[in-house]
Amino acid sequence: MLRIFQTDILDPEQFVVTLELVPGRESTGRSVDTVMGIAREAFSDGRVSAVSITDNPGGNPSLSPDAIGYRIFSIGMDVIVHFTCRDMNRVGMESRALQLAMIGMKNILAITGDYSGMGFGGQGAPVFDLDSVNLQILFTLLSKRIHAAGDPDGFFAGCAISPFKKMEGECVAQYTKMSRKVAAGARFMITQLGYDAGKFHELIGVQRHMGIEVPTLGSVYMLSPRVAAIMNQGRVPGAVVSDPLLLTVQKEWQNKQAGQKSAIERAARLGVVLRGLGYRGVHIGGIHRDFESVGLILDRMEEIKDDWKTFLPEFNHPQPKGFYAFQETPPHPVKTPVFDQGSKPLAFSEKLLYIVMQHAHNVFFNADARLAPIYRTACKTLDRSKTGRLLMYLAEHPIKRMLLGCQHCGDCAIQHVGFLCPESGCPKHTRNGACGGSLHGMCEVNTDKRCVWFRAHKRLASQKKIEEMCTGCVPPRMWELNHTSSWLNFHLERDHQNNDTEIAECCRQTTCHLLPG
Ligand code: SF4
Repeated sequence: MLRIFQTDILDPEQFVVTLELVPGRESTGRSVDTVMGIAREAFSDGRVSAVSITDNPGGNPSLSPDAIGYRIFSIGMDVIVHFTCRDMNRVGMESRALQLAMIGMKNILAITGDYSGMGFGGQGAPVFDLDSVNLQILFTLLSKRIHAAGDPDGFFAGCAISPFKKMEGECVAQYTKMSRKVAAGARFMITQLGYDAGKFHELIGVQRHMGIEVPTLGSVYMLSPRVAAIMNQGRVPGAVVSDPLLLTVQKEWQNKQAGQKSAIERAARLGVVLRGLGYRGVHIGGIHRDFESVGLILDRMEEIKDDWKTFLPEFNHPQPKGFYAFQETPPHPVKTPVFDQGSKPLAFSEKLLYIVMQHAHNVFFNADARLAPIYRTACKTLDRSKTGRLLMYLAEHPIKRMLLGCQHCGDCAIQHVGFLCPESGCPKHTRNGACGGSLHGMCEVNTDKRCVWFRAHKRLASQKKIEEMCTGCVPPRMWELNHTSSWLNFHLERDHQNNDTEIAECCRQTTCHLLPG
């Protein structure tokens, strides 16, 4: 049955079902036949609004979602293309987006993406030229351009959100970035995978308090013991399976048939719980063979949809000592969120460094400061000669290298990240908030280091300034300034803060939804 994802999800009366499919590492053969078979059956079944196709999941190469997605699209099934920031720079991304627009594939899930995995001859180079907020803006602005060129339909781009974070700083980083994504034009959201009804409840509550009305799909997964173990070990960034749930799943699968039955039942029960909590649909994953289990999940959901409250205790899987913004547990409606800013003071050295940096920034890098015209004149003079630029490099780089691990990018963004460097501090170079991959406050890639956004939250919260994480947005790094002095670039109005591109203007005008509490 022909369904249009955009129409379905924008209709508040509809409970939407989408299905995530993962292409294999072949261009033809069994993995392609399987994906196509599931998509064909989903189309005949008529209850699935769209299939979403992953983009090199885990950072490892697989058949392009654009290619297999187009084939699925051609049989009448609507498709959501996952579009990550990992494998292409902004030129490649824009070109890919235009190609998708030309072939009519305009439902996009714009995401940062997992870090680079293993491809031909070894690990792939991580690109992350844009972050997921800037990727949303790319689709928003490209939509205007393709409209102007005569195409009546723009992109319908959505984003991911990961509510299953344990630490307060990670939760704040997720929710503030969600606000920026919405301000940048996200039209729908899909959650990461988890089984904690308290966190699902928290996300809907935070959205309501922030005034965000973007339809959100909750992820539901056919959990096998192998995948449950991988998720339990934190090896799927953002996905959480608790120890007790892992044990239950392992027991259930001692008999394979019983295991499958339990996985279907759990998926159906979580589906109706999500519906009861206010989610606008479910995003079903973990389907690798055929459509049969999806049909069974949906049949069962129909049977039990009115009993959702009775299943809530089965999804009581809080992370030990995990942060929750609300005291009310589901199904009780949430009242006031508590984001306990600044309860834990910063270590002395961290506090000192933060205050010194803030002070230096206010004195030397504030365009409205009294001395700013003098700095500008001095910078103009220094910029005229090679010696002047060398002097500036010697003044700037060693100290920033020592304090921030500066990589001399020339377009400094530390003021947007609590005076931490998004280039050296974040392997995905995020300038607008955390990716979904942190685990207990640690970086997804450098697992022995704190996530730079977790640290930024601590610094900002210590001064009750977390609204800085969700006001405006930060344009992409200007690569044309690489290996030049960011100090000169700021004073000579060449960096992102003075940039007059459409994207910078869009960021300046962006009004975000502030985190409540
Ligand atoms: S943002 Fe760029 S200029 Fe600023 S500290 Fe990091 S690498 Fe250096």
